[in-house]
Amino acid sequence: MGGQVVVGVDIGGTKVLAGVVDEAGTVSSPARRTTPGRRGVTRQAEDALVEAVLESAAGRPLAGVGVAAAGFVDPAGERVMFAPHLPWQGEPLRDLLEERLGCPVLLDNDANCAARAEAHHGAARGAGSALMITMGTGIGGAVLIDGRVLRGANGMAGEFGHMQVVPGGQACECGKSGCWEQYSSGNALVRNARALMAEQPSVLAEVSGGRPERVNGPMVTAAAEEGDLVARQAFASVGDWLGIGTANLVAALDPEVVVVGGGVSAAGDRLLDPARAALRRTLVGAAHRRVPDVVAATLGPRAGMIGAALLLR
Ligand SMILES: [Zn+2]
Repeated sequence: MGGQVVVGVDIGGTKVLAGVVDEAGTVSSPARRTTPGRRGVTRQAEDALVEAVLESAAGRPLAGVGVAAAGFVDPAGERVMFAPHLPWQGEPLRDLLEERLGCPVLLDNDANCAARAEAHHGAARGAGSALMITMGTGIGGAVLIDGRVLRGANGMAGEFGHMQVVPGGQACECGKSGCWEQYSSGNALVRNARALMAEQPSVLAEVSGGRPERVNGPMVTAAAEEGDLVARQAFASVGDWLGIGTANLVAALDPEVVVVGGGVSAAGDRLLDPARAALRRTLVGAAHRRVPDVVAATLGPRAGMIGAALLLR
């Protein structure tokens, strides 16, 4: 392995991050490129990825490259079947990259990679069974049972965000309605805050110049920090729904710990306390089992790179 490096890559709808990841899960020599987005050409997304890998490796030989992709990856880890924010459809990315980079390449979904990273080096370290719930604009996730990330028949296991929690509820971009992520996500947080602003005074009215459509997630987070009641209620609702959905997952999968990552998780206990309360309230047999703790992810935006690199170990 003299001088050889393992590079982990996280490719999402707006950017590709690459970094050299060592055995301890430490990232060095990070590199970043923008991705062309859904309307781009497949070759451009591939080019951005290859450039980021080569910049990160900085001339050192590659032992292997792991890729965490924000999309559906086939069970064999060879192809990106569909990615909502990238131009790939059934793209044989693993083979294409192996040819261009001249080293082994392994591929998985970004939430699966983040779960692997948190299980080895982060909030779920030492847990054999864990749930990872990623709260960004929507909800993604992954299931780790007995030390393995579940991939499923289509590689689609862990897509929790579109479990129906409210029959006939809020319309979802997926075409269905009442999906969990319509009630518990960054988008839900903002929607709650906008609705509550119409009924109660809030610092958000000032911050947004009186235009609720300008309110965004970071504004709600900052307002909650300042003690704004509208922002705090918006978080309480999203946290409560987080706990309700989590109770269903815990009933089905019985994990030791639930790790919540993604942008919204930066709110910490403001989000997690109401989730813990709702989990205890709604979980079957809560009085007769060890209810799993709900904790914030600890690796932040580097989890994808770290977990991608773990594919090679
Ligand atoms: Zn949906």
